[in-house]
Amino acid sequence: MASPEALLICEHCDTVYRRRALVRGDVARCACCDAELERHHALSVNAMLALILTAFIVFVQANMWPIVTLGLNGQHSSTTLWGMIVAMWREQAGVVSVLVAATLFFFPLMKMSLLGWLLWFARAGRRAPGFRQLMVTLHYLGPWTMSEVFVLGALVAIVKAHTYFDVTPDPGIYAYAALTLLITIFAGVDLRQLWDETPEPLA
Ligand SMILES: [Zn+2]
Repeated sequence: MASPEALLICEHCDTVYRRRALVRGDVARCACCDAELERHHALSVNAMLALILTAFIVFVQANMWPIVTLGLNGQHSSTTLWGMIVAMWREQAGVVSVLVAATLFFFPLMKMSLLGWLLWFARAGRRAPGFRQLMVTLHYLGPWTMSEVFVLGALVAIVKAHTYFDVTPDPGIYAYAALTLLITIFAGVDLRQLWDETPEPLA
């Protein structure tokens, strides 16, 4: 009988396949429903951990540094992401401020912490405590980190506001742009590889 590691099951239609070694750029697709089965692991666990640490440092800077400076009649005021969220809350835009705080701050922070935790243990070839639940949480958290939407929105707003104000982008927005890049790199990583790279603990 084949070992479970040698088999691959399509998540969408349950067809079972025999696993084949993939080379760089390869993506295995289901012959029945064309769903993605597996892709080549371009990044090692160590590389992913380094990427997460970098993303975390950039994230801290993106939140500490001001994002834009607005100038009107010789007066200038700059704001950080949190300054913006608090201002929106005060201006009765409660729902928007909560959404912004969740998608730009809490979800990305949660995602990075979870990944950091899982990868730290995976580095030693072990499954982190709570591995199963955390992998499921990460799966659902996926679509809820929207730094890229924010950076685009902020850039459009900066260009538009230019008609009325003196707008200068501040370092925070560049940090967010860098973070977007890191998130995009990470979006191409198939985290399911962690299931294979860490052995199931013996009960
Ligand atoms: Zn399928």
